[in-house]
This record gives sequence, C-alpha cells and structure tokens, in this order.
Amino acid sequence: MKKKLGAAKSVYTLADLKKGIDVQSPIRLGVLGDPVEHSLSPQMQDAALKQCKVDMQYARFRISPDELRHALKLIRQLEFVGVNLTIPHKIKALEFLDVRDENVKRIGAVNVIKVESGKLLGFNTDGRGFSRAVREEFSVDLRDLRILVLGAGGAGRAIALQCAKENCERLVIANGTFEKGQELADSLRDFFSGPKVFGPVPRLQAIPWEEKAFRFQIGNVDLVVNATPIGLNRGETSPIPARLLAPHVMVYDTIYSDKRTPLVAAAIEAGARGANGLSMLLHQGALAFEVWFQREPPLDVMRKAIS
Ligand code: NAP
Repeated sequence: MKKKLGAAKSVYTLADLKKGIDVQSPIRLGVLGDPVEHSLSPQMQDAALKQCKVDMQYARFRISPDELRHALKLIRQLEFVGVNLTIPHKIKALEFLDVRDENVKRIGAVNVIKVESGKLLGFNTDGRGFSRAVREEFSVDLRDLRILVLGAGGAGRAIALQCAKENCERLVIANGTFEKGQELADSLRDFFSGPKVFGPVPRLQAIPWEEKAFRFQIGNVDLVVNATPIGLNRGETSPIPARLLAPHVMVYDTIYSDKRTPLVAAAIEAGARGANGLSMLLHQGALAFEVWFQREPPLDVMRKAIS
C-alpha cells in the first residue's frame, strides 16, 4: 500500500527531523533558528526552486541551542543540500562545521551550510548580500562611501568586513559594548593602511554608543547602517533619533520586519533616504542558492516572492 504523505507544516521541530518528514516534495533545505516563525526565506527559496525545476522544498525548523548539534547531524544523515542559520545559531554552529570558508573564519559567524559528501561546509553571505543591497537601494558602491555601522555582532562584523574589503572611504563602528566595537575595528586595521587620508577624522575607528559621538559622526559619514536588533520589536525606538540624522545621509536598516522600521522612519523624518533589510535578505539568500546549486539564482522570482 502506498504510504500517505503528510501536509507541509509552517514550522518543523527536531522531533520531525528525527522521524523523517514525508511530504510531497522532499524537504532538503531549510532555516534553523529560534524564533523562526517570521522567516521569509521559505517563500523566497521555494520560488527559486520551482523556477529552476528542482523538486525539493525549503522549510523552517525551530531548533533551540541545545538541539543544534543533533539537528545538524540529522541534516547530514538525511542528505540535505544545506541550511541557513539564523538567531541564535550563527556563532554556535561554527563548532560543528567540517570546513569554514575565509569569510566565516574572519567574521566568526556562519549563515549558510552546504552538505557535501557528508561534510558540513560553512559560508557567510551576509556581507556580500549587504553590499549588493546598498548598490540596489542607493545606486552607490561601498568603496565610495564613509560608513557608520551600528552593531558588532554577527551581522555587524560581516558588514564591516565587506566595507573594509571593498576599500570604503571611511568606517566607523559603534556598539553597545564599546570594547567589542574596538576589537572589530582593530581586526580590520590592515585594510585601512592605504594612502587615503581624511583630514582630522580617522579612516577607521570605534566610537562609544553616545549621542555626542553620533552627532559628530553624522557630519562625517554618508551611510548609516543598523546591524543591531534595535527596532525589531514593536514599540522600540530608532537606534539613532531623527534629530541626529541629516538629509545627506543614506540609512540602511538590516531589520526587515516592517517596511518602515523605526530607523527608516527617523531617516524619512530627517529628510534622508532610508531602506529596510529586505534587499539584504534577498541578496544573501540568492548567494546561498548559488552556494547550494552552483548556478545563477532567479533573482527576480525571489524578489517577487518576498515583496
Ligand atoms: P547579534 O550577533 O546578537 O548582535 C547584535 C549586536 O547589536 C551586538 O553587538 C549588540 O551589542 C548590539 N546591540 C544590541 N542591543 C543594543 C543596544 N540596545 N544598544 C547598543 N547596541 C546594541 O545579532 P546579529 O545576528 O548581528 O543581528 C543583528 C540584526 O541584523 C538583527 O536585527 C537581524 O535581524 C539583522 N540581520 C538582517 C539580515 C538581513 O538579511 N536583512 C541578515 C542578518 C542579520 P553588545 O555587544 O553590547 O551586546
């Protein structure tokens, strides 16, 4: 007798992975996180799979930090093509990788795993995704910009490294814990030893998380990036208030939960241009698709699926 196939779920768990998931089209890709309900990656990646006529599905998996090791073991056994990692797994997952690419080593965080010959290969596509998003939103390249990055966690480190690699004009890092921002700036020092000089302001620096420091820097940067979760939850205010922003700056918020995040709203109030993190989600996801399938991702189809 033919086995009855179950209906696809919006979120799977470790228990589902243990029993094996029987659905019409096999699940061989997914995102592991907690919380993960909000993730838009399944609709984006499923649209790409359909367009490319790849018969598999991408699913959400709610996996706690304690379950991560087991989940990755099962992903390997079930011959997944790969997975994305989101909060809180991007750092913890490093210890379970067989191979880490250069970006992963430098950033200390992984957002894409590819399963190849039973091994887990780790990549980080956040930085390049961010770069493409900025080009798309503002028609500028990072190398032409003076950039203030808020946050020195996984996303902040990926973004700061990309800015450094693309030889941006200036990079300023502000983080809640100042020492962490300073550590990040120090790790990028080699990239900024070239001949570009900017008068009295240093090309690379970490600043304290203070209104006075923000006020001064806004006059000396072109792009402000929010790589903190401030603004993610309802009722939260912008990490930088509108009164400190100015019409000349471009503002990129990596948060995409709302079209008009508190920071994007503050940018608009200040007469500046602002964009949310949907474009970064798209491009980091498209780069992940490329890692998994070694082929060009159908970008327009993916974009349409999340807009
Ligand atoms: P994370 O590793 O937890 O890092 C968060 C950073 O923000 C930490 O350095 C933390 O500083 C800082 N921070 C948090 N609250 C703060 C506050 N009140 N004041 C000052 N600094 C504060 O998180 P993550 O993985 O980097 O993610 C950060 C954000 O990026 C999230 O909102 C995520 O959604 C977004 N993201 C978006 C995309 C996309 O595709 N659009 C991709 C990746 C990430 P401390 O060191 O002091 O704790």
